[in-house]
Amino acid sequence: MSPVHWLFGDQLGPHFTATDGGATPPATRWLLIESRAVFRRRRFHRAKAHLVLSAMRHRAAELGDRARHVSAETYREGLARTVGAGPVSVHHPTSRAALALVDSLPQVTVHPARGFLTGHREFADWAARQKGRRLLQENFYEHTRRTHDILMEGDRPAGGRWNLDHDNREPPPRGADALDVERPYRPGEDEIDEEVRRDLDRWEREEGISFAGRDGPRLFPATRQEALAALDHFVTHRLPTFGAYEDAMLAGDPVMSHSLLSSSLNLGLLDPWECVSRAEEAWRAGHVPLNSAEGFVRQVCGWREYVWHLYWHFGEDYRHRNALRHTAPLPDWFAELDADAVGARCLSTVLAQVRDTGWTHHIPRLMVLGSHALQRGWDPGAVTDWFHRCFVDGYDWVMLPNVVGMSQYADGGLMTTKPYTSGGAYIHRMSDLCGGCRYRPGDRSGARACPYTVGYWAFLRRHRARLEGNPRMTRAVRGLDRLGDADQVARQHRDAGDAPP
Ligand SMILES: Cc1cc2nc3c(=O)[nH]c(=O)nc-3n(C[C@H](O)[C@H](O)[C@H](O)COP(=O)(O)OP(=O)(O)OC[C@H]3O[C@@H](n4cnc5c(N)ncnc54)[C@H](O)[C@@H]3O)c2cc1C
Ligand code: SF4
Repeated sequence: MSPVHWLFGDQLGPHFTATDGGATPPATRWLLIESRAVFRRRRFHRAKAHLVLSAMRHRAAELGDRARHVSAETYREGLARTVGAGPVSVHHPTSRAALALVDSLPQVTVHPARGFLTGHREFADWAARQKGRRLLQENFYEHTRRTHDILMEGDRPAGGRWNLDHDNREPPPRGADALDVERPYRPGEDEIDEEVRRDLDRWEREEGISFAGRDGPRLFPATRQEALAALDHFVTHRLPTFGAYEDAMLAGDPVMSHSLLSSSLNLGLLDPWECVSRAEEAWRAGHVPLNSAEGFVRQVCGWREYVWHLYWHFGEDYRHRNALRHTAPLPDWFAELDADAVGARCLSTVLAQVRDTGWTHHIPRLMVLGSHALQRGWDPGAVTDWFHRCFVDGYDWVMLPNVVGMSQYADGGLMTTKPYTSGGAYIHRMSDLCGGCRYRPGDRSGARACPYTVGYWAFLRRHRARLEGNPRMTRAVRGLDRLGDADQVARQHRDAGDAPP
């Protein structure tokens, strides 16, 4: 009998079915299981549910007779229906829950993870060499560049520096509604998408499954071919301006020069190697400036790899961390993506982007959505769950470090050296959002006080004892003493309660 290999819904590219390494011999049959219980447990954005199901069904269709695609209530049920107690192999899944499941099934053999540049062993060896020091992203990034020979000139980083971030913090071009760059690649839909849409409607009608967000046309690749087209389009047309405007926001141009490749990477449609290699080739061919190539490479082989390993390194308890003891529940307007209820233009704009597409770039995630949650003291577990459900690229492994650690500082500084939050001045500098807002970024009291500015000072005041010992926060905390009206600002923040700002 042919061996059977199980492909999870985020293991859909050719690197998961390649026969190299002996994990899946040439005659292997492939098994894809759609579990409805996954969608029952969490109220996902409908665009995300659509994307994942569409990608799985497209992959099953591509693999043809050699693939078995089943829809079941649970993975266990799907497995029992298709292979019974027969042997099955699988590549290391990306979540602790899925790993626990496959480990609990005696018939399943687990092969090493694919879809990342660096292996678990490599990270563990690197972490051991840090000898108890903080596991810094920039150090792991440097290690990865060196070891895998990425953007190197001999044993030196290309351009002489590992990180060209100081060239990558430009505010948006003055007066522009959008970046002067070709629009991003968007795929078309086909009959598989129509079928997915019908199934989702039926689940909502008959199965008691409900979704958040709007169900527009599918905006992200569901096939390898579409993902390659998206990568090609990005490197050719948009990578040159990626670097400079990486952190900038424009109300009328949510994508700016970002790649929109996270969902393709996380579905396993693209391998990070090919993304990094394409960027490096474009730079070596003189088509792309180094700050853009390096900025993009750092996102993929720095941040993405680092976050993947931290997820496993920090352990299961990490998801329950709550160093700042934030316990407020998410208000309904936020949970339900009710952008129209929000008056603060930055938050309303970004919440609408999430509602309509299931995506925003990293600065709106960190400095608008996450920062507001942090300032309001919302429960970091609930915030993490919200991000996981509402973003097309959200998976347990990538959400935990990004939200618990980076965005909510709930790990008390294991991942980042300081909390990421700011007053309205940062948003004003890096966007055009404050222009049409009912609030004023510089005001911290009165009817037009910016909720981010008020929230920032209130956050510092509330956590002063913890933050003043942090050298990166000392100056900010001292600013409180010069404020004069800190009590009043804190009161204004408290009085806002959980009403939409
Ligand atoms: C609060 C918060 C939540 C986030 N949640 C997710 C998530 O659920 N899934 C996700 O893939 N990314 C997440 N990120 C990281 C980052 O915001 C997205 O990867 C990025 O915005 C996706 O858009 P893009 O593909 O255009 O990325 P680009 O800006 O073009 O970057 C290129 C690639 O780098 C990778 N990358 C960059 N930063 C990170 C990071 N911090 N963690 C992991 N990969 C990274 C992504 O694969 C991305 O496609 C989160 C960041 C924050 C601050
Ligand atoms: S003034 Fe404040 S609330 Fe309004 S857009 Fe600017 S930062 Fe956001």
